[in-house]
Amino acid sequence: MHCMKGRRHVAKVEERENKAKRGGLTMPMLMPPSQYDHPPQVPVIEKVVPWNELQRFCHGVIERDKIRTATGAGVWGCAGLVKGKCYVFRIDVPGVRRHELAHCNGWPHDHPGGWYDAPLH
Ligand SMILES: [Zn+2]
Repeated sequence: MHCMKGRRHVAKVEERENKAKRGGLTMPMLMPPSQYDHPPQVPVIEKVVPWNELQRFCHGVIERDKIRTATGAGVWGCAGLVKGKCYVFRIDVPGVRRHELAHCNGWPHDHPGGWYDAPLH
């Protein structure tokens, strides 16, 4: 019984992730409010990685190292401030860069003031 429950849960998560992967280019992007929407004052270390690698980094490293300052982790990318530098990992989708750089500027990860860009069709 327990095994079946577990499997069903995993399947659900995978389904959601696949949907996110497929819908990546057409899903609306959450954009930052204007006070965070500018080039960061701190050095930015940016890495564009494949989706699978991104999930590993965003859910692994950020959790492990307890990066809590201006950290945002989503389907498309994540950002975290480490020793005065902002590390951005993201996939190559329009709008993600702006979103993650806003986290470098201190936009909290629950995205107060965020607004949705029109879907790119
Ligand atoms: Zn975010």
